[in-house]
Amino acid sequence: MKWSWKLGRFAGIDAYVHASFLLLVAWAAWAAFQGAGTGLAALLGVIFLVGVFASVLLHEFGHALTARHYGIRTRRIVLWPIGGVAQLEGEPRTPREELHIALAGPAVNFVLAALLFVVVNVAGLPTYGLLSSLMVANVTLGLFNLIPAFPMDGGRVLRAALATRVGGGRATELAVKIGKFAAAAFVVAGLFGNPVLMLVGAFVWFAAGAEGRRNPYAHHERADASWWRWSAPARRDVYRKRHRPRPRRPLYREPPNDSGRLVIFIRR
Ligand SMILES: [Zn+2]
Repeated sequence: MKWSWKLGRFAGIDAYVHASFLLLVAWAAWAAFQGAGTGLAALLGVIFLVGVFASVLLHEFGHALTARHYGIRTRRIVLWPIGGVAQLEGEPRTPREELHIALAGPAVNFVLAALLFVVVNVAGLPTYGLLSSLMVANVTLGLFNLIPAFPMDGGRVLRAALATRVGGGRATELAVKIGKFAAAAFVVAGLFGNPVLMLVGAFVWFAAGAEGRRNPYAHHERADASWWRWSAPARRDVYRKRHRPRPRRPLYREPPNDSGRLVIFIRR
């Protein structure tokens, strides 16, 4: 991994942090210092950020360990300033597997939030303290990633739900369309609110496009669809030649080698 440092190896999976993360740390310190004007505030700002990214790391391990349960290995986990990515070395074989792997990440955040809630209340900590903020951040992380903006977690949940009805190929096409619509909405929302949303929108847009282009199910499923019967015969022949019928495969097929799971973090 260029321009990144290894954080360590946990449960047999290497975790890295990208160098650009330092910019975010500097920004967090500066923003906190601007707010309160003390070095202590700046330090607390950085500690909070580290706490949030530790939560993101655990979220990614939620995906990675659930994927392992289904026999899919994780090449590495990388933390970027915008969020984390677990690079899985395969695709789930069934919609149910995809559903479980996608939900595992946000589930980790909700469990962390519940634990922090107990700690804050048992210890009687202040409502706006570090741990309370971290609790709110985890709820936010869990909910935000469940927005059905494919290829974010919620988008994968949506694809899994659609796949049981219309097949993996069509489900991917629909999920990509909805993902791009959501990405455009993020950009517009970013114009009026948090500018980071614009960055997230751009990222989701291109990530959705990339997933759509390597949609491994589209061709042979389309050859089975009925629309071409109504198109010109010549065109049908061209179509059939280009996409020769292949043997039926399971809904979710063998691994492309660059799939990832991403989690996105928005600062409140
Ligand atoms: Zn996730």
